[in-house]
Amino acid sequence: DVGVDTLQTWLRTFAASVAEQQDTLTSLDAAIGDADHGANMHRGMTAVVDGLAATPAGDPAALFKQTGMTLVKSVGGASGPLYGTLFLRMAPATGGAATLDAETFAKALRAGLEGVVARGKAEVGDKTMVDALTPALDALDAALASGRSLADALRAASAAADEGRDATTPIVARKGRASYLGERSVGHQDPGATSAALLVAAAAGAVA
Ligand code: ADP
Ligand code: MG
Ligand code: MG
Repeated sequence: DVGVDTLQTWLRTFAASVAEQQDTLTSLDAAIGDADHGANMHRGMTAVVDGLAATPAGDPAALFKQTGMTLVKSVGGASGPLYGTLFLRMAPATGGAATLDAETFAKALRAGLEGVVARGKAEVGDKTMVDALTPALDALDAALASGRSLADALRAASAAADEGRDATTPIVARKGRASYLGERSVGHQDPGATSAALLVAAAAGAVA
């Protein structure tokens, strides 16, 4: 099972990879957006980590709620409300449990993704973060259903997220700023799918 400590490690790991990849995320966004995705995510995740240090969360639901609210407040742009929604929707899906078993963690992530889709209206193939998150959560569910451990299943999810991220390169953007470019968005990897793959990789790293 995963408790608050492991979940905090997940968020800190994600914050660290965003910090490390900030320039990459920004140059991807410079090509098909407005060159702020690295700065947006770095600002948001720094605020999340600082907030958790100042006000430790008592259970997973509180941790997710605090994270989501901080992201909505501090990120701005398209990605702030979307990542914020992901975490805000995860909170109630934990049922208030002190620790999450693999199925509950997977269900919470699924609820988060459904929130992102409800809010942003992106489908797989629209060249967004949904293109990384959807195959990741499908792979997570499939691995858990076949009896693999959560750590193993998250590794499979991370591999699927990376593939989904890579698959955004050859396609046309249909949502967000990149969609304004139409065909000219082809040949560029989506910044939000790139940060989303880091989020899944961080989960695999934290639970391993
Ligand atoms: P902004 O585009 O407002 O500057 P960011 O640069 O931080 O915001 O984030 C851009 C990313 O947000 C895109 O690469 C894409 O993955 C994601 N995104 C944009 N619009 C949507 C949407 N409607 N649904 C899902 N993801 C979206
Ligand atoms: Mg941007
Ligand atoms: Mg912007």
